[in-house]
Amino acid sequence: LIPLARTIQTDRKLREDNETMRREFTANVSHELKTPLTSISGYAELIETGMAKPADVPTFAARIHKEAQRMIALVSDILQLSELDSTQASQSREKPVEMAPVDLAALLKETAQNMTVNARKAYVTLQYSAQPATVQGSKDLLAELATNLCDNAIRYNQPGGHVELRCGTGPDGPWLQVEDNGIGIPQDSQARVFERFYRVDKSRSKATGGTGLGLAIVKHIALLHHARIDLQSQVGSGTTIKVTFPKA
Ligand code: ADP
Repeated sequence: LIPLARTIQTDRKLREDNETMRREFTANVSHELKTPLTSISGYAELIETGMAKPADVPTFAARIHKEAQRMIALVSDILQLSELDSTQASQSREKPVEMAPVDLAALLKETAQNMTVNARKAYVTLQYSAQPATVQGSKDLLAELATNLCDNAIRYNQPGGHVELRCGTGPDGPWLQVEDNGIGIPQDSQARVFERFYRVDKSRSKATGGTGLGLAIVKHIALLHHARIDLQSQVGSGTTIKVTFPKA
């Protein structure tokens, strides 16, 4: 009976932990959505009641637009996470992710091309150097993973900074890596940046269009591919995130 009692106890603890996590997530989502909505509603009301001077209207409209964009980004990240959650739960049952050979070198080239404009806007140079590497995976999800890492490497950088996307095949398997010489992540935050809504500097994240969910999505996608994530970072020197996939 003792092992059975232990299993029941572990099971209950797991369910309670899940419940707490779900409650925290809902509270965070509500808070994150309420902030832009309050400001949209406030500016719209000023225009509606005629309290905004005609000269102020374009500025207020721009703020409404920016906050609405933020909400769209947030909702899209939340939907992506919830899709990943249900995929993980039903993996190998109803809706398994379609896995096919993905050429990481081609994927990184595409990512670099898509992110060029963002990099230019931030005065950051973006390079990619790819060795042959193929993984069994979902191309769309892997593109999302690479884009999120690259986006962060640009946003948490400084003018004149540099970002390099690399991939290759090592003794442990194929890998991809995003390296930047940006602001870095403090030691005590490194284990937490993959948590939902955890940000080192909330105002910088928001000012650059962050949702606080990018790395949580990366973690989920890596997990679905049985990949390992290694993070190396030093404040003021930069960050390198490497994702290593299982050998073929
Ligand atoms: P966000 O939308 O805020 O960027 P993420 O989940 O992508 O959310 O990242 C969580 C936090 O980790 C960020 O707010 C930032 O503080 C930190 N971070 C992520 N990537 C980097 C990086 N390349 N350099 C420095 N800090 C980073």
